[in-house]
Amino acid sequence: MDHPQLEPLLTGLHATPSVPLPFMDGVDLHSFVLETEQGLVVIYNTPAIDTVGEEISSLGKPRRLLINHWHEGMSGTPSMNIPTFVHSRDQAQLESTMRVDGTFEDQQMIGDDLEVIPSLAHTPGAAFYLWNNGEHKILFVGDSFWVENGVWKAVLLGESNRKKFLETLEHMRDLDFDVLAPWPAQRGRPAIDVITEKQKQKQIDGLTARIKAGASGPSS
Ligand SMILES: [Zn+2]
Repeated sequence: MDHPQLEPLLTGLHATPSVPLPFMDGVDLHSFVLETEQGLVVIYNTPAIDTVGEEISSLGKPRRLLINHWHEGMSGTPSMNIPTFVHSRDQAQLESTMRVDGTFEDQQMIGDDLEVIPSLAHTPGAAFYLWNNGEHKILFVGDSFWVENGVWKAVLLGESNRKKFLETLEHMRDLDFDVLAPWPAQRGRPAIDVITEKQKQKQIDGLTARIKAGASGPSS
């Protein structure tokens, strides 16, 4: 029988089934499940965490649900009980729709392989996560950045900080990563973008130029 399943992407990295983004046609959301050095970690909140809850549990006990930013609260607290963490500056808004168990403030490591990197651009408390699975360095950017027709796009909203977006891009230029793993993806397209260093620099150049020129919104 056909039933929703976790999709293996890279060593130790799985994507949950996709969930349609309610207010944008043709865009799906994913959560990711990571087999980290300190145990199982889920990144991004979606209703799909519960859809594949049993399969997640079969991999181990989830230690943390890491929230990139408060917009992920729109689907509420998953019934699967996972301690949930967010940057302190997005805590209050996230708590209006879901339970929060802990917060981050500064850049910090979780174990030896996972790093919290505050961006503070898309929302006041947007924080990225960088995971080294031993083969790839995967950057989880929420919907600060996503991939539209192969091009990295930024999502600047009224609550976003343009200066911090440009600072985040400068940081990403020097950051060692070769996979972008956004919360949203175009329907039918891969959930992650595996890139060379040259492709990464080209995407960052394009984004920087468009943001400096005043780009905003998901389709800018
Ligand atoms: Zn968002």
